[in-house]
Amino acid sequence: MKITKVCCQGCGADLQVDEDVRYVTCNYCNARLEVVHDPSVTHTRLMEKLEKTTERMAGNLRVIELQNELARMDREWEQEREGFMVTGKHGHRSLPTTAGSAVGGGFAALFGVIWTVAAGSMGAPAPFVLFGLVFVGFAIFNAVNGASKAEAHRSAESLHESQRAELLRQIEAARRE
Ligand SMILES: [Zn+2]
Repeated sequence: MKITKVCCQGCGADLQVDEDVRYVTCNYCNARLEVVHDPSVTHTRLMEKLEKTTERMAGNLRVIELQNELARMDREWEQEREGFMVTGKHGHRSLPTTAGSAVGGGFAALFGVIWTVAAGSMGAPAPFVLFGLVFVGFAIFNAVNGASKAEAHRSAESLHESQRAELLRQIEAARRE
């Protein structure tokens, strides 16, 4: 056991410490010190400073973690959003609207009704007349499906928006720490 003299970085007092000791509390100012055994001279380093740096790093890590979470949430939402889309006439995918579904369905159903009436009045064979009725049914199904998807998309989107806003608040809070 060898005693070394070190100087407290907190108050400048001379302290006697065992050479094997790594951490010491100053008798005079209560500073927590790390004893650094440098090849040239043994000195002390204030622990609080180290702790503050560690805390700041932990705060940054939390921010990074939350930002990753945000990126993940946005990716998931992109995928979820895909599920609400409908395929249009030209094969492109878009989000349905309630009004669009109703108007589109109305026109399609009207076309089916006109077809049925025309085919019926011209004495066309039964399959031709039936085609019009099937078309009307299909138009109604599509309109209802589009409208319910539009509704589901709206509520999912508002849920996503509120979760996103909450996460942004957490990131802001973590940044201030
Ligand atoms: Zn001291």
